[in-house]
Amino acid sequence: MSQENLIKFECSECRHINYYSKKNKKTLKERLQLKKHCKWCKKHTLHKETK
Ligand SMILES: [Zn+2]
Repeated sequence: MSQENLIKFECSECRHINYYSKKNKKTLKERLQLKKHCKWCKKHTLHKETK
């Protein structure tokens, strides 16, 4: 129903999608970037929002 608010975070190094989050309309315009642990890279990498 509110699928359009579902966002994925993709590792900027290996391109695997590791995290999911929901976005509210307030932050919809911003591109989010998070530093998270990637199990594929086995280290902390920058995760970018993707669709
Ligand atoms: Zn990775």
